[in-house]
Amino acid sequence: MYSFLNNFFTNLGIDLGTANTIVYADNRGYVVNQPSVIAFKKGLQVLAFGTEAKEMLGKTGAAISVIRPLADGVIADFEAGEELIKAFIKSADVPRYRIGRVVMGVPTGITEVEKIAVIESAEQAGAREVYLIEEPVAAAIGLGLDVKGHDAHMIVDIGGGTTDIAVINYGGIVVDNTIRVAGDELNEAIVRYFKNQYQMRIGEFTAERMKIDFGTVTEKYNGKAVTVKGLDIKDGMPKQLILPSSFFIEALHDIIEVIINAVMGTLEKLPAELVNDLVDRGIILSGGGALLKGLDDVIRERTTLPVSVADNALFSVAEGTRMIIEDFKNYKNLLMSRS
Ligand code: ADP
Ligand code: MG
Repeated sequence: MYSFLNNFFTNLGIDLGTANTIVYADNRGYVVNQPSVIAFKKGLQVLAFGTEAKEMLGKTGAAISVIRPLADGVIADFEAGEELIKAFIKSADVPRYRIGRVVMGVPTGITEVEKIAVIESAEQAGAREVYLIEEPVAAAIGLGLDVKGHDAHMIVDIGGGTTDIAVINYGGIVVDNTIRVAGDELNEAIVRYFKNQYQMRIGEFTAERMKIDFGTVTEKYNGKAVTVKGLDIKDGMPKQLILPSSFFIEALHDIIEVIINAVMGTLEKLPAELVNDLVDRGIILSGGGALLKGLDDVIRERTTLPVSVADNALFSVAEGTRMIIEDFKNYKNLLMSRS
């Protein structure tokens, strides 16, 4: 496009995550960072989205449905997914006729039908051209890795609904594995732990808050006393406990094992040459789940490879989409589009 058009059009980079959606608008910066949640009134009328809709989760009657369309890493509910994409593009506050390219990070497991649905939603919201990129590739770009080079990089992106593992070189994915076990399942494991160990009912939001503030998977980070508030299962009365944060190690153990096994399984599928690259470069953890304290230590111990946590782990994919729209020619051949 000519440069005067470049100034006229605003390009958008979108990380359509299972838990959070982040939108970058060129020349403006990050304009949206909100939960991927949408609420409908009967008849598919959008009532709320993002933070406002997340606050409604689990609190509404039958007349309102609150949906996380991407919770499993696939667009389980197409219409809701489309409405969510449209709502987020709208809230970027760029006039329809000024939206240029949209580059969107999507889960590796996305089907052809889902790709088309995502592209059409962005088009309906005004996008002139829509390009998709697999989230781990976007994350690697966002982290400044040379994704086009011959050296292999391993990204383990632990989001809300899915953990995406990918080994990337020559501009593409060599081996990948997606499991539907990530941050949400860690929250659920905490809820279960209190139910089974203390006959106490706590909400999933409470569990998530505790995980973010105090969660740890190694003794190294233990030391804080955690106050847990919930309801006694037997009599429904409020109940409060104060526990050392090491309880998380036990509560989260089984889910962490599933994630580690997925990483190990992916390593086993790799050609020996690429494993050697990883011995030098190691594994990079990204996504919100990467921030769980001690997770890097545990994965390092089990894989015997170097493991690091991405700077700005919650923004790796969004940063990748930003870099792609800023240097579009350089990355164009890594993108998927309607052909
Ligand atoms: P997605 O890309 O799937 O939308 P994100 O990368 O935004 O997901 O990560 C969201 C997940 O990360 C949630 O499950 C959230 O609880 C978790 N999370 C965010 N911050 C932390 C933290 N400091 N420690 C542990 N988990 C975290
Ligand atoms: Mg993500």
